[in-house]
Amino acid sequence: MNSVLVFGSINHDTIVSTPRRPQAGETLLGHSVTTQPGGKGANQAVAAARLGARVKMFGSVGADAAGSMMVDSLANEGVDVVGVLRAQVETGAAILTVSDDGENSIIVIPGANKHVGEWQVQELETTVKPGDVVVFQLEIPLAIIAPALKVAQDGNARTILNAAPAHEITSLLPQVDILVVNETEAELLGGYPVASVAEAQRAAANFANAYEVVAIVTLGSLGSVVAEGENLLHIPAVSVDAVDTTGAGDTFVGALAAFLADGMSIAEAAHMASRAGAIACVALGAQASMPTRAALL
Ligand code: ADP
Repeated sequence: MNSVLVFGSINHDTIVSTPRRPQAGETLLGHSVTTQPGGKGANQAVAAARLGARVKMFGSVGADAAGSMMVDSLANEGVDVVGVLRAQVETGAAILTVSDDGENSIIVIPGANKHVGEWQVQELETTVKPGDVVVFQLEIPLAIIAPALKVAQDGNARTILNAAPAHEITSLLPQVDILVVNETEAELLGGYPVASVAEAQRAAANFANAYEVVAIVTLGSLGSVVAEGENLLHIPAVSVDAVDTTGAGDTFVGALAAFLADGMSIAEAAHMASRAGAIACVALGAQASMPTRAALL
């Protein structure tokens, strides 16, 4: 059985619901506060594990209570956490403020994610096997993604780069097999607007051609486009009553990796990923709303 190996971030998310954002120096009474596991890497690992993939995570949390919680929650999802190091710093955190007007403000403290380094690359090297799918995002130091990509490529695994959050990453692309970006990330990479299906198709075709990758551009409720060689595919979104789209992109990437590891073609896996992304929108939270295999099939 091929594995999904996720090399990336782990965060402890705190979500504060408040009538409005406080002014400087003001104390405000909020509505509620909840905490939940997050980070793009951990989210993608959980999405793949829920769908039945064998998943191992490579990352870093702090030697604090939040770090223990994040490791336990990954392990409870069946993710192998032997590649998660406990660093002597705070666990990465995201503080999300949601005000009554629906606007979000987010502060991210990378913390231990900044300490993903050589140790995790070596762990990846001893783990990776031909046919595995290795998944990267951009919430850990870019300088360590390049050697990790090389280890994955040398091990004859398939590499997926989800170039999120948006960043200049063209130097990484020679070692990437499948590039996944949303509209914002596609705009940064292409240097032109990507808001419609036609614009996303043009961008995906350009990326596929220029960087010799399979390029996937996700477009929220407009679905996604896949450019593979000369083939261009639009996968319309599954129609759902979306309640919270947080984590849709991470669910899409985790599901894509899970079904590729299972032996599906890119087009088949992208169709399944699109269904998984839609299901992730019908309940609150990132990981909480990710579908199981039974919910998808
Ligand atoms: P990101 O969160 O990275 O911006 P997207 O919002 O593009 O990612 O979502 C990824 C995928 O999830 C989409 O390509 C689509 O398949 C699915 N999806 C996202 N939002 C919706 C929605 N409102 N309805 C149905 N499917 C959705």
